[in-house]
Amino acid sequence: MKVDFAKGDGLIPVVIQDNQTLEVLMLGYMNEEAWAKTQQEGRVTFYSRSKNRLWTKGEESGNFLEVISSHIDCDQDTLLIKVKPAGPTCHTGARSCFQTEYNQNFLLQLERIVQRRYEMPTEESYVNKLRQRGLNKIAQKVGEEAVETVIAALAETEHDFINESSDLFFHLLVLLREKGLDLQTIAKNLESRHQ
Ligand code: AMP
Ligand code: ZN
Ligand code: ZN
Ligand code: ZN
Repeated sequence: MKVDFAKGDGLIPVVIQDNQTLEVLMLGYMNEEAWAKTQQEGRVTFYSRSKNRLWTKGEESGNFLEVISSHIDCDQDTLLIKVKPAGPTCHTGARSCFQTEYNQNFLLQLERIVQRRYEMPTEESYVNKLRQRGLNKIAQKVGEEAVETVIAALAETEHDFINESSDLFFHLLVLLREKGLDLQTIAKNLESRHQ
């Protein structure tokens, strides 16, 4: 990948995006050396203008940014790096430096929360209880919520319909995870059908 460092006096802006939730996490700058180190190590190193040195994000906090893929813009002077963050990216403890009071795509975050429960089960977790009851029960639950959604759509208030639709989405996320699949697979399949 060709990156034109000359244009910005040796520093180019780098947009960091969460590979899974698609949140924009932060913006930093890289010089040629930082970009080389980032590619070598598979984790993001910036050039910090305030520290005046290479700065590996996470070097103190441990919240490294693991590189999933890198993309150059149309005129080769800005990078977009998709990452898997090890923890909150912002020094304030927020997931993103651009975090607002609401989440624009909570479904994708919910998918990650379900994944985390599978990786690190906790006692009180509903996801875990569902999982322990097995695939048949989870699949049955999706069926029940689908029926409840249909009934609410035809007969009940908007409030009930919203709640039943939420139940259906949630249980489908758990079923997908139980089957080792994710939303991205479904989205890709839908896209492939679209001419
Ligand atoms: P870290 O790289 O996460 O170990 O953080 C080291 C230092 O870098 C922090 O004490 C902050 O001064 C700064 N820092 C960390 N994260 C950010 C960020 N997202 N944006 C700007 N500065 C940051
Ligand atoms: Zn550009
Ligand atoms: Zn921040
Ligand atoms: Zn329900």
